[in-house]
Amino acid sequence: MTPLQVQVPGEGYHRELISCQVACPVHTDARGYVRAIAEGRFDDAYLIARGPNPFASICGRVCGAPCEAACRRGKVPRVDDDGAFVAADRPIAIRALKRFVCELHGPESTEAVSLLGQIRNFGPPVAANVDEMAAMLHATMNGRVRRVNGQSVAIIGAGPAGLSAAHDLALLGFRPVVYETEPVPAGMLWLGVPAYRLPREVIEREVEVIRALGVEIRCGVTVGRDVSLADLRRDYAAVILAVGAKSSRGLGLPGEAGPGVFGGVDLLRAVSLGERVEAGGDVVVVGGGNVAYDVARSVLRQIAFDTARTAARMAQTSRVRLVSLEGLEEMPADTVEIMEGDEEGVERLNGWGPVEILRGGEGRVRGIRFRRCLRVYDANRGFAPLYDDENQLTLECDSVMLAVGQAPRLDFLDDGGADIEQFRPGWPKTDPKTLATTAPGVFVAGDLAHGTRLLIDAVASGKAAARSVYEYVTGSRLDSHAVTSHLVEHRYRRESGYESIRRVPVPLAHPEERLSHPEALVEKGYTQEQAMREASRCLDCGVTPVFDGTRCVLCGGCADVCPTLCLKLVPLTEISAGAELGSVLEASLGEDADLSQHSAILKDEDRCIRCAACVMRCPVDAITMERVAYTTEWSCQ
Ligand SMILES: Cc1cc2nc3c(=O)[nH]c(=O)nc-3n(C[C@H](O)[C@H](O)[C@H](O)COP(=O)(O)OP(=O)(O)OC[C@H]3O[C@@H](n4cnc5c(N)ncnc54)[C@H](O)[C@@H]3O)c2cc1C
Ligand code: SF4
Ligand code: SF4
Repeated sequence: MTPLQVQVPGEGYHRELISCQVACPVHTDARGYVRAIAEGRFDDAYLIARGPNPFASICGRVCGAPCEAACRRGKVPRVDDDGAFVAADRPIAIRALKRFVCELHGPESTEAVSLLGQIRNFGPPVAANVDEMAAMLHATMNGRVRRVNGQSVAIIGAGPAGLSAAHDLALLGFRPVVYETEPVPAGMLWLGVPAYRLPREVIEREVEVIRALGVEIRCGVTVGRDVSLADLRRDYAAVILAVGAKSSRGLGLPGEAGPGVFGGVDLLRAVSLGERVEAGGDVVVVGGGNVAYDVARSVLRQIAFDTARTAARMAQTSRVRLVSLEGLEEMPADTVEIMEGDEEGVERLNGWGPVEILRGGEGRVRGIRFRRCLRVYDANRGFAPLYDDENQLTLECDSVMLAVGQAPRLDFLDDGGADIEQFRPGWPKTDPKTLATTAPGVFVAGDLAHGTRLLIDAVASGKAAARSVYEYVTGSRLDSHAVTSHLVEHRYRRESGYESIRRVPVPLAHPEERLSHPEALVEKGYTQEQAMREASRCLDCGVTPVFDGTRCVLCGGCADVCPTLCLKLVPLTEISAGAELGSVLEASLGEDADLSQHSAILKDEDRCIRCAACVMRCPVDAITMERVAYTTEWSCQ
């Protein structure tokens, strides 16, 4: 029999069990706000969600939600109506819950200055982290971290990375000035994410709070044209490059250059800014990711809207086809995007790679030719498409949109950036820890630092860049360490039946209603009752049953009552005793103990639903439910 592999809980073990918080790039205490919603403490819930994240309201609408992908509830066995465990459950709808509290207590409903006051005065009750605004503010207030005296820092780009850096720099006492080429702030959140997913008013209000901290945003100023990087480096204590990856990538296909072919993000930008787009009514979108869906669904709405308004256009073909190299299972787009696109009428073709864009009279696009893609990735998951050239498909259309990736534009480096080395064209070489470039005092953040990812990754890197700027300008080192405490929950009880509640579906508008206007929202948001019900499904992973080996009489009662069968009483001889376990056994049993005479209780953390049945069953009080709490202390040396 293969020995069982075990892990001995050590420093940080319990923290790692709060998988939603671990997975979030800014370590939002999702557990904290989800449980607060379940208990009806909505104002606390908002402040916990906002603590480390200046874009909490926007995240509540569109975050890619890595916390949900990691949520333990999505891994534990699901209970059927008859009480039997049938399959893996579904994660908590963390993002939709965040939207619920942000709408109630965030900038959507509260004026910026009063909101800032509330955020300042709030101390996170349980699981703080280094990104926590309160932790940083407390450190500057009690003198552990010296506030700087209004030195100016220039930030190029008002996307989530640039604005998050500005937000934290303002908290540390800097005067951040953000230069933005577009007429609006928020980068791709405004220019890329369609309004049917993210209302522009939510963006405006969230950015207003950042402005209220003293951040100056100069929209309509292009660095490299209106002001040079050389000027900024001369006039400011430090510069952060947060220009994102804004240019649509092309494919270099025959026929690609010319009218009727659009870059995906260029198209979205034009739609977002209300610019006229000379696209036809028979559109092929090339790409299989979320951006391709944003493009396809935006075009569909524009066509539907134009058609409704202009009787003359009704005779035209009005369709949007999305062609992806990948098969359905491998498409990089989120399942929800694919499903909603299907519902709205995006015609999806999987497994085709573009070969040529066909042009007719006067160079107009008349179609696009594809070849069959037999395989996209090789055995090592490397991108290595394999085609069948004999199997081809031609789609007639009048417009082609390419949503196949983005790249940064760094022409502004020409004046003042000669010492910024690039590891490949368009991507600056940076220290991954400090985000410093090879030029003194110049840092990067966001998509430019890590490639295109999620908005919350950009927020995290903006905050990291702010810390590095602080260290660079003050010459001191910022330190943070977590102070951990274990609190025994003597009165721990869960809501009745929480383990069998199914995920509450996020209410959606009917497809017809969605297409009635380009900005008609798809997601409607939870009611209070729905939100509290969904939140009550959370397993509260910050609480865990802790076993006291000195009391345990190995009766096995806990294993008998555990509803998810996550406890197991096993002889020590069946366990693989690595060095770590070896020293634990030696300390508790002595050096020459006969392991065949001893047993241990093993726990499968993935399955534990924190029901406390084991605690109640234990005849010798050897098990306690303990809440692991953290606070972060900052200091600078
Ligand atoms: C279409 C689309 C949809 C997306 N949807 C989601 C989503 O639903 N959920 C999610 O989590 N993530 C999403 N993302 C990803 C997310 O938007 C990005 O990861 C994030 O915006 C990157 O932030 P950033 O600040 O690094 O760059 P950006 O947001 O790109 O901001 C950079 C800013 O710099 C400005 N700039 C560039 N050059 C100059 C210059 N020379 N002078 C002055 N200003 C300049 C730009 O105009 C821009 O405003 C989406 C991305 C796209 C493209
Ligand atoms: S069940 Fe709750 S605490 Fe556990 S990972 Fe999911 S949201 Fe976080
Ligand atoms: S709390 Fe105890 S009984 Fe409940 S699932 Fe976890 S280990 Fe099993």
